Amino acid sequence: MTTETAQFTVIRADATPAPSLPAFGQFIGGKFVPSSSSETVDVVNPATEEVLTQVPAGTAEDVDAAVAAAVAAKDAWAATTPRDRAAVLLKIADIIEANRELFETLEAANTGKPPAVAEDDISSAIDTFRFSAGAARAYSTLGADDYAENHTSVIHREPVGVVGVITPWNYPLLMAAWKIAPVLGAGNTLVLKPSEQTPLTTLKLAELIAGEVPAGVINIVTGPGRVVGNRLSEHPHVDLVAITGSVGSGQKVAAAAAGSVKRVHLELGGKAPVVIFADADLEAAAKGVRSAGFWNGGQECGAACRVLVHESVADKFTELLVKEISEITVGTPGADDAEIGSMISKAHYERVLEALEDIRKDGHTIAVGGRAIEGPGYFIEPTVVTNVPAQAPITSNEIFGPVVSVETFSTDDEAVTRANETIYGLAASVWTKDSARSLTVPRKLDFGTVWVNSHLVIATEMPWGGFKGSGYGRDLSSYALDDFSRTKHVMYNRG
Ligand code: NAD
Repeated sequence: MTTETAQFTVIRADATPAPSLPAFGQFIGGKFVPSSSSETVDVVNPATEEVLTQVPAGTAEDVDAAVAAAVAAKDAWAATTPRDRAAVLLKIADIIEANRELFETLEAANTGKPPAVAEDDISSAIDTFRFSAGAARAYSTLGADDYAENHTSVIHREPVGVVGVITPWNYPLLMAAWKIAPVLGAGNTLVLKPSEQTPLTTLKLAELIAGEVPAGVINIVTGPGRVVGNRLSEHPHVDLVAITGSVGSGQKVAAAAAGSVKRVHLELGGKAPVVIFADADLEAAAKGVRSAGFWNGGQECGAACRVLVHESVADKFTELLVKEISEITVGTPGADDAEIGSMISKAHYERVLEALEDIRKDGHTIAVGGRAIEGPGYFIEPTVVTNVPAQAPITSNEIFGPVVSVETFSTDDEAVTRANETIYGLAASVWTKDSARSLTVPRKLDFGTVWVNSHLVIATEMPWGGFKGSGYGRDLSSYALDDFSRTKHVMYNRG
């Protein structure tokens, strides 16, 4: 089945509330200050193509000033008790909650997200701060004891120091929260660089919490990755750099960080396989791919974007999936019934359209969608691609848009081998009613998260992070506190 006429239209909300824009400047030492450069970056609403505002195109000097503020604040912040730090994190959560609508509207205006996604982002950000507040207080190490004669060992968990944080555009406030909460909870100070495309909610957060967090503990510098992100990565006084972004950016960060031998925390891309066995509940799997493959318009590192289905049920499953995807609604942020919104930017929209062209050239079948939807705004139809052989480029290239491909397999071993045939190792899912399979297959998959009969359900208490090209380091859970802490052993001679 091929459709070469547009099937989807954009539901356009009549009027959307004007977003409350953040103060202008770099947030350094507890207040907004001018950048050392007068250059700015336009921040665009991708659902309308209107310029919302400008932010400073920051410089290496801006980063140096922010790092100096973080260094100046670090000893006092490190000396606070977990209870004191938890109180600040809880206060931040309360402030986001009290301004929930403001954050949702601003995030949606800057990203083109539909209401359900913006709501979920803000709720999850709040939960991340609350969880980290509790986790920071409950964190413990080995008990003090004797491991050498007449010597008593004590393990201290210390902050790393100053942490550089670089965030992506797909969940701007949420990805900032995933870092800020554990970084501060563990007693570090930080300098954060948001994506140049989506800095607004991070700057707004800084503005609203300025009076609640000691000056210099949180600093925000906007600007391009190759300038601001690179300086943060190489800076001799930044002790650890954490990035959520693409594999290419992660590699550059790690290379720049090597010069000062700083620790690196990488949350990179993904291409999550969805392995559907013949005994699976096919309707549930099709609904699962609809929600987890197209959440946030597929601009999601764990998106259920690569289906591997057993050949005996492939036709039935594809029919169910195409029906589900044909029903997806596309709309602007104010449209309550929109399931997916726009792509984040013109450049990304063009990248996704190019990927669709390549898919056509490679001879695959576009069973539904496959085209741009008439603007304004960077909208692309929800798309299902079939007739995809093993090792076709679409099985391994991260498209990061509303595109799901379907491949078939014959045996369990083949399914596992093919699912693992990717540079990525972030997330995967397995769909089966067979209890033995549900226990054995996840253990053989090389991915940091594996869901069984589900996909993309995130729990703040559970770790999130990848293997292989998806990076190393864990967000969420108390493992994130580990990642932003260092362990010191002090041994006392009692002889
Ligand atoms: P990106 O790599 O283009 O940008 C991410 C951040 O890195 C931005 O702030 C950017 O300015 C910065 N950056 C770019 N070049 C840099 C450099 N040389 N030095 C330092 N910083 C630099 O990624 P994106 O397009 O914003 O986000 C999409 C990517 O992020 C996808 O690959 C997606 O899979 C990944 N992602 C991963 C996770 C996860 O948890 N693993 C979550 C969200 C997004």
